[in-house]
Amino acid sequence: MIIILRSGVSEEQIQHVVEHVEELGLRAHLSRGTYRTIIGVIGDESKIPIEPLRAITGVAEVVPVLPAYKLASLEAHPQPSIISVGNVKIGGGHLGMIAGPCAVEEPERMREIAKAVRAAGANIFRGGAFKPRTSPYAFQGLGEEGLKILRAVGDEFGMPIVTEVMDPRRVEMVAEYADMMQIGARNMQNFTLLTEVGQAGRPVLLKRGMAASIEDLLMSAEYVLSQGNPNVVLCERGIRGFDKATRNLYDVAAVPLVKTLSHLPIIVDPSHATGRPDLIPACALAGLAAGADGVHIEVHNCPEKAKSDGPQALLPEQYAELMVQLRKIAEVVGKQWD
Ligand code: PEP
Ligand code: MN
Repeated sequence: MIIILRSGVSEEQIQHVVEHVEELGLRAHLSRGTYRTIIGVIGDESKIPIEPLRAITGVAEVVPVLPAYKLASLEAHPQPSIISVGNVKIGGGHLGMIAGPCAVEEPERMREIAKAVRAAGANIFRGGAFKPRTSPYAFQGLGEEGLKILRAVGDEFGMPIVTEVMDPRRVEMVAEYADMMQIGARNMQNFTLLTEVGQAGRPVLLKRGMAASIEDLLMSAEYVLSQGNPNVVLCERGIRGFDKATRNLYDVAAVPLVKTLSHLPIIVDPSHATGRPDLIPACALAGLAAGADGVHIEVHNCPEKAKSDGPQALLPEQYAELMVQLRKIAEVVGKQWD
């Protein structure tokens, strides 16, 4: 950690900072420049509460050398993590190809969609049984009944399932049915929920919040990891932009950026990122080319009848066509999926 002092700081104030550092059992290395004095702190940075340091008169800036997300950082784990979801691996060259409708719907429709995406090569089936809707009057999901349908259909077509959990009180129930639990964008900073899923023993798909920085996303992952659950997959699903031309602003740079900071896999969700079926294929390909560890796409066989997010759903045949192209990109970047 580096402590930068204000110009004109008094000798007494410098000594006060040095004493503060030494009281914490660390060493302070003073470097006096022409205009500024800086103090290099030598020792375990994690022992230093930063806020009190920043509050000391004469301190201009405190610059940690290590990121605050210790367990999620590359320093903690220099090799890419490989997360198992049922029999599917994500990360380290393995791609998670997640597909399915936005919401779990009636069993026969779910079977038809699952059959189609499986045939196209999807390896994880998705669908929300608990839906985070902007309006309380919109379809809220089938609840436990939806979990049962998703489980049965996933099993029938040989795919592990991922589904969203919104409420800490439902974590146990969702964990009973799901192979992977999704934390949606709207709940990325629901710290109680993150703590609960951290203890539930299921891999977690953590979606980036609509106004979340990359650091916020990694700090949320840290909540799950710090509970002893190392199985977190991040998801770039677009952040709020000013332009209504797309549903969100697809931040494809987040993918290679996260790779420079963390060992956790990151997948892309061009469905929620763009909200437009005509843009989804290009953005899916771009995500994979940028280094994503998987692609998450909403597919529905009759979007006009979909219970939620119909306008952004790909038809099964569009998904199949895209998967052919995604395979080619996967080959170029040296990745694969089973
Ligand atoms: C979803 O996956 O259907 C969903 C609601 O996603 P997000 O949280 O990214 O909006
Ligand atoms: Mn959706």
